[in-house]
Amino acid sequence: MCETILLTPQEGTKGTKFIYFAAVEHVDVIVVGAGLSGIGGACQLKIECPRKSFVILEGREAMGGTWDLFRYPGVRSDSDMYTLGYRFRPWRDNKAMADGPAILSYIRETAAEYGVDKTIRYNHRVRRASWSSEQARWTVEAETGPEKAVVQLTCNFLYLCTGYYDYEGGYTPEWPGVARFRGTIVHPQKWPEDLDYTGKRIVVIGSGATAVTLVPAMAARAAHVTMLQRSPTYIVSKPAEDRVANWLRRLLPDRAAYMLARWKNVLSGSFFYNLARKRPNLFKWMVARGVRKELGEKYDSKHFTPPYNPWDQRLCLVPDADLFRAMRDGRVSIATDQIETFTEDGLLLKSGERLDADVIVTATGLVLRLFSGMQLVVDGATVDLPKTLVYKGMMFSDVPNLAFAVGYTNASWTLKCDLTAEYVCRLLNHMDHHGYSFCTPRVNDPDVEEEPVIDFNSGYVLRALDSLPRQGSKPPWRLHQNYVKDLSMMRYGRVDDGTMEFKTAVEAVGRG
Ligand SMILES: Cc1cc2nc3c(=O)[nH]c(=O)nc-3n(C[C@H](O)[C@H](O)[C@H](O)COP(=O)(O)OP(=O)(O)OC[C@H]3O[C@@H](n4cnc5c(N)ncnc54)[C@H](O)[C@@H]3O)c2cc1C
Repeated sequence: MCETILLTPQEGTKGTKFIYFAAVEHVDVIVVGAGLSGIGGACQLKIECPRKSFVILEGREAMGGTWDLFRYPGVRSDSDMYTLGYRFRPWRDNKAMADGPAILSYIRETAAEYGVDKTIRYNHRVRRASWSSEQARWTVEAETGPEKAVVQLTCNFLYLCTGYYDYEGGYTPEWPGVARFRGTIVHPQKWPEDLDYTGKRIVVIGSGATAVTLVPAMAARAAHVTMLQRSPTYIVSKPAEDRVANWLRRLLPDRAAYMLARWKNVLSGSFFYNLARKRPNLFKWMVARGVRKELGEKYDSKHFTPPYNPWDQRLCLVPDADLFRAMRDGRVSIATDQIETFTEDGLLLKSGERLDADVIVTATGLVLRLFSGMQLVVDGATVDLPKTLVYKGMMFSDVPNLAFAVGYTNASWTLKCDLTAEYVCRLLNHMDHHGYSFCTPRVNDPDVEEEPVIDFNSGYVLRALDSLPRQGSKPPWRLHQNYVKDLSMMRYGRVDDGTMEFKTAVEAVGRG
C-alpha cells in the first residue's frame, strides 16, 4: 500500500498537517548516509540479503561522507587502507596510508561495482524516524530540495551510517581579539577552494590528526608554518607504503594478499595498542626515541611529551616522517603555548611570544554529534540516548529494528562497521527464517552496570559525553574495542543470544 507523504518544511518534523499526499514508498531497509560505512553496509546487504529492498538516504549532494567533505591540503587517512578498506573489496593502491581523493575513488568504485550507487537518494537529510510497534515499521522523514520539503518513507529496519560528527561545522573555541586579525582564518572542515597560501606565513592551531596532516602539506608552498599546540600529542612515523603488503600483492591473488595484509595489520595494531596500555612508560620511551631519531638536535621534549598516557587520546601517525622532515628543513616549527589574544598581525601567546601570520588555520577539532541530531521516536516517546545502553556496539536497548555503524576508536573505523553490517544481515536473515518482525535488545541482566561509552579524554569526546548513550559492564553491552573479540561475537556468536528479544507480528499484537 502506497502512502508517501510530502510535507511543508515547517510542519515536517512536527507532523501535524500533511500538505501533499502522493504514493509512499516502503522498503525493507533504509540506510542513512552514503559515506564509507553506508556504502559498505549497502554492499553487504546486496551480498548477504539479495532479496531485501533498500534505499540509501544521503543528506549531501555526493557520496563519500568524510572523504568528500574534507578538502584541506594533504587530507589522508592515518590508518592503513588494508584495515580501513572493506573486507569484501581489496585495496589495490601501493600507498597504505592513502590520500583523501584515492579513498573517495575507492568508495565510489565500490558503490558502482555492487550497483548500490543507484539506490542513493541525494539531498535527503533525515530529521526524524519514528517506530510504530502496531505497524512494525519505521517512518522516516527526510528534508529534500531547496525548499526542504519533507518526504516520508517507511521501512522494517533502519540502519544509521551517519558518522559521528556535525557536518554543519567544526569546533572553534572562542578566543579574544579574533575580529582584530587582518589575515585569513580557515577551519579545515570548510576549506576555501581558492585559498592561495603560497609564500605566506601560516599558523595552524591544534595538534591532532588534522594539524599534523596539514602542517607538512602546507609547508611545501608556504613561507613558514608554525603548529601551535596547547599540549603535545604522541606522534609516530610509519611508512606510507606497506612493503610486506605490496610484496604479498606481487606474489598472491588480490584477495588473498589483501586478507593477509589486513590480518597482519589488525594483529600488529592490536599488539602496539596493548603494549601502550599495559606498558605505557616503555611505549612513551619508544615514541620519544623515534621522534629524537628523526629530529636530531632539533628535538625538544617539550613539544613531544603529552601530559597523558598513550591512547588516552588518539595517537597521530605521520607517513614517512613528513612532519619531522619539514621541521628538519626549517619549514615548520612547533610552539607549545596558549593564546592570550589574536592581534592585527597574528597571535600573542601567554608566554609573551608573538606569532605573525597571514593565514591562521583552526585545526581545533570536530563537534561530535551522533546521527547529525536526528530525532528517534519509539511508539510516540522520544528516545533519550543517554538513557540507553549500547548492544554489541551497534544497537540501543529497547529500540527495535535499528542498528548504527560506529567504528573503533583505537583501530580502523571499517573493521567494526564491516562486522556491524555483517551482523545486521545475519539478524535480518534470522528474522526471515523464523518469521519475526521485531528484534529488540533488552537489558534483562540485573548485574549490568552503566559506564561511559568511550574511555577517551579527547576534548571532542568530553564535550559530548552527556549526549551519548552508555555502555554496560558486561557483554553484550560492553564495547570491546577489539576486532578479534568482536569478530568471534558478531560472525560466530548466536544471534538469538538471550538478550535480543524476537517477536512475530502476531506475538506483538497479542501482547499489546
Ligand atoms: C579528516 C578525517 C580523517 C580520518 N581518518 C581516519 C582514518 O585514517 N582511519 C579511521 O579509521 N578513521 C578516520 N576518520 C574517521 C572517519 O570519519 C571514518 O573512518 C569514516 O570515514 C566514517 O565513515 P562513515 O560513513 O561512518 O561516516 P561519514 O564519513 O561521516 O559519512 C556519513 C554520511 O552520512 C550522511 N548523513 C549524516 N547524517 C545524515 C542524515 N541525518 N540524513 C542523511 N544523511 C546523513 C553524511 O552527509 C555523510 O555523507 C577520519 C575522519 C576525518 C574527519
